[in-house]
Amino acid sequence: MKVLVLNSGSSSIKYQLFRVQDWQALASGLVARIGEPEGEVKLNWLDSDEVSHSSQESLPISSHEQGIDYIIRALRDSGVLVEVGELAAIGHRVVHGGVRFKQPARIDDSVIEAIREVVPLAPLHNPGHLAGIEAACSHFPGVPSVAVFDTAFHQTMPPAAYRYAIPEALYTEHRIRRYGFHGTSHHYVAKRAAELLGKPLDQCNLISLHLGNGASATAIRAGQCVDTSMGLTPLEGLVMGTRSGDIDPAVVIYLCKHLGLDADGLDRLLNRQSGLLGLCGVNDMREIDQLAAAGDERAELAIAITTHRLKKYIGAYYAELGRVDALVFTGGIGENAAEIRRRACEGLERLGIRLDTELNASRAQRGERCISLPESEVRVLVVPTNEELEIAQQALRTVADIDR
Ligand code: ADP
Repeated sequence: MKVLVLNSGSSSIKYQLFRVQDWQALASGLVARIGEPEGEVKLNWLDSDEVSHSSQESLPISSHEQGIDYIIRALRDSGVLVEVGELAAIGHRVVHGGVRFKQPARIDDSVIEAIREVVPLAPLHNPGHLAGIEAACSHFPGVPSVAVFDTAFHQTMPPAAYRYAIPEALYTEHRIRRYGFHGTSHHYVAKRAAELLGKPLDQCNLISLHLGNGASATAIRAGQCVDTSMGLTPLEGLVMGTRSGDIDPAVVIYLCKHLGLDADGLDRLLNRQSGLLGLCGVNDMREIDQLAAAGDERAELAIAITTHRLKKYIGAYYAELGRVDALVFTGGIGENAAEIRRRACEGLERLGIRLDTELNASRAQRGERCISLPESEVRVLVVPTNEELEIAQQALRTVADIDR
């Protein structure tokens, strides 16, 4: 049996097909620029001898429905999916599940309605997910579909962590609270970290740091999220590629009053023009690393602000947790940027965090690994994230639990 994972955006669908038996990814790809005259489709797949192939073409894709149609045809033509009946489940990534979804949910009309209800909280993501879900459901009425939410893992946060100190009615009437995102990734790396630590997850206290274009930190006590750095939206918290992360809310008031920015202008400024890009003109950490090494002061400052903020969150979550088994780095930056990891951990020896700077910097090391010294009380781990695999496994488990 196989599980198909779909991540549908407003104009694209990313997909991955897994074989359940060994969780091997048999195919992955992308349908992009849906609705534009020139769409783009990509497919990578493994043949029966496990040799990888790829194809790419340009063709118009008018709708999500047609995108799904294309994906199925491509999977069939490449031989990785002979018939739709082989699909045990389809897992859909959904960014926002509001407060209702603490777990993945088998998709039915009420789940679709609930995802629609929180569109105002995730206007850039949930409409695209809905288009993908509806297209897939009408295409494969017989295959169980499951929504896996980025917010679900964070639903165990206590009110002290998820409420903002603003008038209560904004929470009760408008649902303004902290939700947190990247939950599928934090959950996945937490499970892997527990495995590496050789302890059950429900005995592990962890600080996980997902550092990609978007970035978030999560405090995990006994395997459950107790705090996370993203809030009502993914704008709060760490410094990101193009997002500011934490700022004094009065900056927003100032921008409105004195620079005449409206809601759209503020959205653009803080979500797309800030963060690393706003600080040094580049949002790719590889490039920033090279610029800083060549003496570029703005790039150096961007790294300093990023690691300063990271360290503040590590300290804050350490204080919340009291005892920490491991710091877990993941995401493109967390997995690869040794200098960011070094600077985030620098000076934290009194907290029991002792990085092995050689192991940390070693290019020979890849994949899951421990990069702290043997005497480090808190282990420092690198765990490559795999959100698609986590979605596939959660989707299958959800279907199996319901059928049981
Ligand atoms: P997304 O959030 O879009 O999934 P990723 O998790 O792929 O992003 O992370 C993208 C970030 O990871 C970029 O800033 C990229 O420069 C950075 N990155 C990837 N590889 C390296 C590397 N070898 N060294 C430093 N940064 C890296």
